[in-house]
Amino acid sequence: MDVMDVLNKYNQEVTATISVAEKKHVDAAVQGAKEALKTPFSPYERYEVLMKAAELLVERRDQFAQVLALEVGKPIRESRGEIERAAQTLVISAEEAKRIHGEGVPVESAPGSENRMAFTVRVPVGVVAAITPFNVPVNLVCHKIGPAIAAGNSVVLKPAEVTPICALMLAELMEEAGLPKGRLQLLTGDGAQIGEWLLENKDVNMFTFTGSPRVGEYIRSKAGLRKVALELGNNSATVVHHDANVEQAASLIAQKSFNNAGQVCISVQRVYVHEEAFESFLQVLKEKTETLVVGDPTDESTDIGPMIRLREAERVENWVNEAVEQGAVMALGGKRDGALYEPTILTNVNDDMKVCRQEVFGPVVSIATYKEIDEVIAKVNDSDYGLQAGLFTNDLQFAMKAAREIEVGGLIINDASAYRVDHMPYGGVKNSGNGKEGPKYAIEEMTEERIIVLNL
Ligand code: NAD
Repeated sequence: MDVMDVLNKYNQEVTATISVAEKKHVDAAVQGAKEALKTPFSPYERYEVLMKAAELLVERRDQFAQVLALEVGKPIRESRGEIERAAQTLVISAEEAKRIHGEGVPVESAPGSENRMAFTVRVPVGVVAAITPFNVPVNLVCHKIGPAIAAGNSVVLKPAEVTPICALMLAELMEEAGLPKGRLQLLTGDGAQIGEWLLENKDVNMFTFTGSPRVGEYIRSKAGLRKVALELGNNSATVVHHDANVEQAASLIAQKSFNNAGQVCISVQRVYVHEEAFESFLQVLKEKTETLVVGDPTDESTDIGPMIRLREAERVENWVNEAVEQGAVMALGGKRDGALYEPTILTNVNDDMKVCRQEVFGPVVSIATYKEIDEVIAKVNDSDYGLQAGLFTNDLQFAMKAAREIEVGGLIINDASAYRVDHMPYGGVKNSGNGKEGPKYAIEEMTEERIIVLNL
């Protein structure tokens, strides 16, 4: 069997070696997942397993966080935060396992059906293939396996090839928590190849994917009539209106633009500031951003670690340099040291620069100004994406108009686009995907509604 190295993203040394799955392993994993569905696994048992798994995860928080810091390059404090949230995601999934229900359907109201009664039940889809990205490799895995298990499915998990170690640790932990054999299968190795074999295997009933629009579109094109849930990218916008608390907005945006070196799907990327607030906003944003420490992710004082690959940091550098050549002003940052890229603020940008139009997925925030409310709503909507947006304002009329007109899965008022808690419905429109995560909503995606009609 071939093997693949997993690198420490800060010093590029090999930190682990993983097996590369072959077709026979993929088919065996799907078969094992399908077989496991034959053994009864009640909602209460699912609840108990998921609660136990959450407890074990909290106990092992520091061990997991250490691995995240190495394999993702995520700063250690942020890594601990991810593990705490992942444990919560499992708890919420456990709670939801006990609440899956259908509804009464008044079929008796149809002429000729007076003697009938009906209700729906939600049944598991069966085998769920879960394909996950590198940037949040514990919590996003929990957002798939938690609801899938809670709903009574089996899961075949394929984590990102650059960050598989936490997923392997999580699979071990699930087994320890009492998950019945076969309910969770894990495949490591080449994403495109394993993806292809999973897509070919007709015993997979559903694909749940988080990652880039390119791969998401490919999965949808190959999945045929099977269910597909897609959580894809974004070039998240946040608007700062002149009546907002501009200092608070700037502080929150400084915090939420550079987490995980900007490699977060709702990381603030495009900021539209009302022209009257621009100077004061920029000043605070720069002051707050300048305090961020770039460096070794295992160091307690680090705020920004390396990007996932050297070539990604080089790409971000090129996009920023191209924007500057096209007239953008570098207000802060712009320097690269290997895979480390400084938190960077650009002003005087236009919407067609790559740093605005495409998903940067790096520590770069671009600031543009606006005069009118209609103008800024049009700017936010002038995007291929629509995951979340932020709006700072105390003008209720503006807030309500934005709630109606901004084309996103989530609008966050008086905070940045990057706000998320794990039980809220989360998912985008346009090229940001379809289907919702958040255990309650993911369970709806991962179950089928069946109607039972009684002829009395
Ligand atoms: P990616 O699309 O490169 O990879 C995601 C996963 O797909 C990995 O496990 C990879 O191995 C696998 N894969 C690659 N090619 C495949 C194929 N042909 N068939 C099946 N699977 C394949 O994404 P990434 O670089 O790991 O993550 C970054 C992207 O993820 C960004 O666009 C980001 O916005 C998005 N993201 C979205 C959310 C969300 O909830 N909407 C959350 C996190 C990340």
